[in-house]
Amino acid sequence: MPEGDSVYRQCKMLREALEGAVVESSDFRVPALATSDVSGRTVVAVVPRGKHILIRLSAAPDAEEMRSGAEPLTLHSHLMMDGTWRVFDRAQNDDAGQPSGSLAGRSHTGGAASTANTPASVPGPRSGAGRPAAGARGPGRAASSSGGGGGAGGVRRSRPGASPYRPRARAGGSVRSAAEARTRISADVAIGQGSHTIRAILRTQDVEAVGFDVKDVRLVPTRLEDQELVGYLGPDILGPDWDLEKALERLSAQPDRAIGTALMDQRNLAGIGNVYRVETLFMSRTNPWARVDSLPEGKLREIVVLAHKLLHLNKDRSMRSTVGQAPQGRPLFWTYGKDGQPCRRCGTVLKRGEIDDALLTVDPAPSRTAVQHLRTIAWCPRCQAAE
Ligand SMILES: [Zn+2]
Repeated sequence: MPEGDSVYRQCKMLREALEGAVVESSDFRVPALATSDVSGRTVVAVVPRGKHILIRLSAAPDAEEMRSGAEPLTLHSHLMMDGTWRVFDRAQNDDAGQPSGSLAGRSHTGGAASTANTPASVPGPRSGAGRPAAGARGPGRAASSSGGGGGAGGVRRSRPGASPYRPRARAGGSVRSAAEARTRISADVAIGQGSHTIRAILRTQDVEAVGFDVKDVRLVPTRLEDQELVGYLGPDILGPDWDLEKALERLSAQPDRAIGTALMDQRNLAGIGNVYRVETLFMSRTNPWARVDSLPEGKLREIVVLAHKLLHLNKDRSMRSTVGQAPQGRPLFWTYGKDGQPCRRCGTVLKRGEIDDALLTVDPAPSRTAVQHLRTIAWCPRCQAAE
């Protein structure tokens, strides 16, 4: 599940792939942006803010028209539960059999960081992931050879009689190469479960950055970023301007809230998702439903400092873990997803609970994005007993 650390890694990947490059073409598959085009603009920065991704673009190059919208723009996206950005290397056309060793190899899914070792695979059902997509290679090859050096212009696949839809069995199967992935995407051929989830594509000379299932895709003038996108967020736990005192102040301002809910409210502090909430509360022996003002002296600070530490430890890791560098085959978490199993500290069977996040919004205009209300958490009734 995407949390601040996933967003941080996604931004790092996008930054390395896009920053400084000119967008050759763009493709937004959300109704509001159906007619938008940011080609010709340079990607000037890729910035994570909490769980939001901001891709900043320069002013339109032919600003001679001074048309509205020619000013610098920010492409906003949010990973929510399933979103992910992937980067495909356009220079791999002549080498269709090899997975890209460069950009695509570094791509992450926005979900579990642990799937980062399946480069250029398309998000989809887990079944078949990592399996070579037998047969998928032929058309990919044909298209890439006619595609030449990865220039602009859609490669039209012409395989009379061939269904544009791949058999279900290949849904989510690994793509043989980044070039193939690009070609198939560019040719608008369904990639199993993949292509219909595409929401945004930015193509530069070298790469194609594709946002799968990303939410709240919007283009706003960069000068209005705060006002329209992220101004409401609390201190960013992975941001350069992280402000612990301010986060504590905001959390304390609503003393009657459950700590488990308050930690997830991005207006208090930005970047914590369910995994870090669950783990932080266990590690600090805190009952998830305890009121903020019922916590012992210093506990709130301890919790936030711990969350900050955990996110920082994980921000550059390919495998998210809260138990240190987990040896192979060992659990990565203390309690997350482990209800019904014995507590690793006291042996008591971990309970499953639900926590109501109904008050939380990911956006100042909540209607834009659905918020899941009840979230499942695992907790230890002994280590995290109510006071
Ligand atoms: Zn316990």
